[in-house]
Parts: sequence; C-alpha cells; structure tokens
Amino acid sequence: MSVPLLDVNAQNLPLETELQAAFNRVLQHGRFIMGPEMEVFEKEVAAMVGVKHALAVSSGTDALLLALMALDIQPGDEVLCPAFTFFATAGAVSRLGAVPVFTDICPVCFNLDVNDARAKITPKTKAIIPVHLFGQSADMDPILALAAEKGLKVIEDGAQAIGALYKGRACGAMGDFGTYSFFPSKNLGGFGDGGMLVTNDDALAEFAKVLRVHGSKPKYYHHYVGGNFRMDTIQCALLSVKLKHYADYTTQRQTNAAHYTEALSQLSGVVQANPAHCKCLSSQDAWLAANNARIVLPVGYEHNTHIWNQYTLRVIGAGQRDSLRDHLQKAGIGCEIYYPLTLDQQPCFAHLPAASLTGCEVSHRMAEEVLSLPIYGELTEAQRNEVISAIGEWLKLG
Ligand SMILES: *Cc1c(COP(=O)(O)O)cnc(C)c1O
Repeated sequence: MSVPLLDVNAQNLPLETELQAAFNRVLQHGRFIMGPEMEVFEKEVAAMVGVKHALAVSSGTDALLLALMALDIQPGDEVLCPAFTFFATAGAVSRLGAVPVFTDICPVCFNLDVNDARAKITPKTKAIIPVHLFGQSADMDPILALAAEKGLKVIEDGAQAIGALYKGRACGAMGDFGTYSFFPSKNLGGFGDGGMLVTNDDALAEFAKVLRVHGSKPKYYHHYVGGNFRMDTIQCALLSVKLKHYADYTTQRQTNAAHYTEALSQLSGVVQANPAHCKCLSSQDAWLAANNARIVLPVGYEHNTHIWNQYTLRVIGAGQRDSLRDHLQKAGIGCEIYYPLTLDQQPCFAHLPAASLTGCEVSHRMAEEVLSLPIYGELTEAQRNEVISAIGEWLKLG
C-alpha cells in the first residue's frame, strides 16, 4: 500500500455536491471579482479567529506583501524573520527593497528565537515576522514585548497555522497583522491560490483594503501605489464550504499526530523532543546523546494548540535523514524535507549584508535533520501503521 504525503481528493471529493452548488451560485450571478461570497468568507474567518477585520487576498505571499506595504516598510528598512521558514516570509520583504535579517530558531518548536532577534535589532529595524511553523505558535509573549519595547511592527506569518492557539489566543490575531494561506497543502486547503490578511486595527484594515485594489479610492483615483491582491469570488465560495468542516480537519490531524507519537516513541532510538530544551541546542544535544536518540519526534508546547500542518521528525547523524527518506520513498511512503536550505543559505540572498546572514546555526542543523511525514486528516489507521512500520524497519537496519 502506498501512502501519499497529501491526498487533496480525500478531503474535497466527499464535499463534491456542496462545492458544485457553490460554484453554480457564482456562475449564475457572475460577480467573479469581489462578489458577495468574498465578504461572507471574510466574516467567517474573522469570527473563527476572533479578529475585527479579515481581507481575502490572492495568496499567503501577497498577504505578507500587503501587510508590509500597509505598514509602510521602505527600501533599506530591516525586517527580522526566521532563517528556517518557507521562502515567502523573506521574499515579501526583499520585494519592497527592504532587508530581511535572519534570526535563528528554537530546536524544540522550530520557531523564531526571540533572544537572537533582540541581538540583531539595529536602528534600521522596523518590523518582525514570527512564523508559526508546521502549525505551532511561536513564543509570542516575549516577541510582542520585544516589539513594544523597540517600536517594531509585528506581522504573524500564520500560513501554516490558521486556527492554532497560543495561550488561548489565535495565531494571526496577536500582531499588527496576521496572514494565512489557502494553498492546497495548508490546513484549510483551497482550489488554487488564496490567502487572508487579518488585523484588529481599523485604520490598517482600511489602508490594506485600498492597497488591495491598486491603491484606488474612489475607483480610478490613486493616492497610493498598491497592487491587485484580490481573491476570486469562486475561491471564497468554495472555501466557505470547507470552513464549516475545519474543526473536524484539525481534530483528525491532531489524532494522527498523537497516534504517530504514541507508536513511534515505543521504538528503540526514538525520543520525543523535550520542552525543557527550549531555545537551547547544546543542552538538547547532550540529552539526545545520553539517550542514544536517532529520531526526535515533534512536540507541542503545553501552552500551544498545535494544528499539525506538518509532523516533522529530526533524524540525528550525518546522512541519516536522507537515508530514512530514501527508505520511506522506496516503501511508497510520501515524505518531504521542509526545508532543505535555510533562507540565509539561499543564493538570492547571498548579496545581503553579513549581519543579515550570521548566527543561524540551529536553523542549519534543522535543515540537515528534518523530515515530514504524511499527516493529512484523511490518512487511515492502516496507512499510519504502514508509515510506523517502515520507520521501525529502517531503525533495525542500524
Ligand atoms: C505557504 C506559506 C506561505 C505562502 O503562502 P502562499 O499562499 O503559497 O503564497 C508563506 N509563509 C509560509 C510559512 C508558508 O508555509
């Protein structure tokens, strides 16, 4: 039996009738740009995450770009973001001529290390973009405190974390702006590209709305240069159908993660990451060596509600991660390396000042060790067991 990394049909086809009805509604009224379904979907998302304003936009990438534009990030401004994230987090900064400054991460949750962020602040630093990677919140209280102390704007990149919580607060709702993505592999996966920008600030929401339509207000009068950052009415209508089932999708992923953790932690050589090693790679290294750990399972901090966009192992030892990946692929099991290069290692950022690119050792290590397993909600118990036994076989190979 093969186990794909993701099976979008398993989630979408059971909703075929409802989706086709939504499609037909839009087809009939014909208001394809900013039609009524857009506002409906925006209100639904705003209610779900508990924010005042939600703006449907063309992608998670454009949500980041629009947030930075609305916060008036200028060429030469510095913006802190983690070195270990999807490219878009920093790409949006660079596209405005601003300078991404890469911070290192915590080896337990893979998220931005606030101590390193503090050390990299300069008079040019204007904003910080914590990413809630793999579906788990970054440690927001110290990040928000640092931002308040230094006068930085906060954009939460919640592309992988819509519905995740930090101490009961929604990821995306804590900063000046939060962004989400509906790329098909995200937890609320759409039917093409789409994203959402959220904020509790009335003035920022209004400005972002204007920038979403080329900075035009009223129509054809431009006080600002914006862009076309709109999400299609059809995409909004279809996503509204899926949003009604979103709580179930999250529960399924959480069930899968719990099952993996329970079964895999019984194998010799496997440990679960220890929250006591938060932000401290050296203490973690010592502990892993003492336990002869070959695979480290992911963990959610107690104060977080993890929504498991990815279930990401660390495979310890030179070449070991690639060996496990090859083994799983030969067994027909989908797996992926998120991410094989950190952002400070990307060729397109090689020209950045050295200060942007230093001190990301934890990130580099993670890029060598991580491997994500199939975790989508519709994964069956038999499929999960297949993954678990393939990992067990690999461990026995020595
Ligand atoms: C997917 C993703 C994005 C970009 O979202 P798109 O909708 O694909 O443009 C940004 N940041 C992170 C962390 C992501 O995972």
